[in-house]
Amino acid sequence: MKNSVDLIPHPTSVTSGSGRLNLTRPVRVFASESEAVRPALAAVERWLGGTREADPDSAQIALELAPGEMAAEAYTLEVGDRVVIRASDEAGLFYGVQTMRQLAEVQANGWVAPRGRIEDSPAGGYRGFMLDVGRNFMSVEFLKRQIDIAASYKLNVFHFHLTEFPGWRFETKAFPDLKSEQYYSQEEMREIVEYAAERCMTVVPEIEMPGHSTAFLKMMPHLKCTNNTMCMGSEETYATLETILTEVAGIFPGPYIHIGTDECRGGVGCARCAATWEALQGYAHHPPSLMAYFIGRINEVVKGLGRTTMVWNDQLDEGLPEDVTVFAWRHDSNANSIAQRGWKTVNCHCPELYFDYGSPAQYIPIIYNWSPDNGQSAGASNILGGEAEAWHDPPVDFEEQIVEDLGFYPRLLTVAERVWAGAAGSPPFEEFHERLLEHKARFFSSLAFPYPEAPEEPWQKRYEGKWPPPPEAGLTME
Ligand SMILES: [Zn+2]
Repeated sequence: MKNSVDLIPHPTSVTSGSGRLNLTRPVRVFASESEAVRPALAAVERWLGGTREADPDSAQIALELAPGEMAAEAYTLEVGDRVVIRASDEAGLFYGVQTMRQLAEVQANGWVAPRGRIEDSPAGGYRGFMLDVGRNFMSVEFLKRQIDIAASYKLNVFHFHLTEFPGWRFETKAFPDLKSEQYYSQEEMREIVEYAAERCMTVVPEIEMPGHSTAFLKMMPHLKCTNNTMCMGSEETYATLETILTEVAGIFPGPYIHIGTDECRGGVGCARCAATWEALQGYAHHPPSLMAYFIGRINEVVKGLGRTTMVWNDQLDEGLPEDVTVFAWRHDSNANSIAQRGWKTVNCHCPELYFDYGSPAQYIPIIYNWSPDNGQSAGASNILGGEAEAWHDPPVDFEEQIVEDLGFYPRLLTVAERVWAGAAGSPPFEEFHERLLEHKARFFSSLAFPYPEAPEEPWQKRYEGKWPPPPEAGLTME
């Protein structure tokens, strides 16, 4: 199976057979009778066209569901006289098809693929990527394209960063005036959720609170604290956020809601906050800070909606509830030690996983040296996986600039390899480098893929004079 060296992510095991299999048009596809084959079957149809075949033995591709036989998201792919993809769940079948797509070469009358057998399963269950639509609005079509590409590399979470300092992109029915000029209607967000689900991907919505909320406060000035954050001493803040989060839960069916909580210490000299804090001192088990009180209350709201709360790791020492999932991002943090303290953890450490740092040429070897558990056993059972963070602070004129500036695709593929194969399952970097170049040539010829060439100037230079914004814009760190 010569071409297996070109697969990203690297599969768990490959056994080469002899010769190659031709798939001639029209490709006849058999699929088990089950709802669970739907994403895999749809992927085959988008790729090959193909006609349904009722008899597995006369099909060229068979998608076989085998409940209980394999771990979650695992699959086997056998290329002999026909292609047999077997898995115990819909994601496994879908990923088997993605591997087959990478193996097969297009020919005049169909496709050809090397014979052999692949057994494959992921090292971790949470394999995410985040797009910051709060700072830079991205069209629904653009988001779908990124979801499609990410899913083809077996990523399974799209973290939808819906609000930020300058932008509120989430349409609420309860507060119709609360939205930036560019926003997503509820219908559009449902469309994104459905598109992702067809590719076995969950969408994690994020509503930033109480900081990073300039746009929100401009439209809700009565909820503003002294330092440009939501006031944690106002009951109306809690009521408003509960209403918003209830709408969020109605649109996003996934298990998680991210509530931000990063880079925020709360207001100073706010009468409402002071009164609330004073009242809390009277309780036997008062929280260590008003921030802890705020997170605790919002966590109860999210749990009441049947979801798990996700937070960035800024408030670890403020008394974070034990049942929230923590994103280990800060330079001074370590996913293993956070996980050892008992929190479920997603490793998105900065700068390795922050795509706005350095150039792809510098950072791809660094990402390839990273893995969700950092190659250590400490706390590993609490580390859910990892996530790529595609921040792009300066405003762009065209959304494609984000992809180009960050070197989004080469970095994303590198993260995809590490979250799927883990530290133990990834070959040496030199070998990955060759595979990455092969993917660039085969799948990204019409897209910006700045690797291995490093640009002469960092992309941030392009935005000089335009960014960072002047202080009067009110974009503080609070
Ligand atoms: Zn306040």
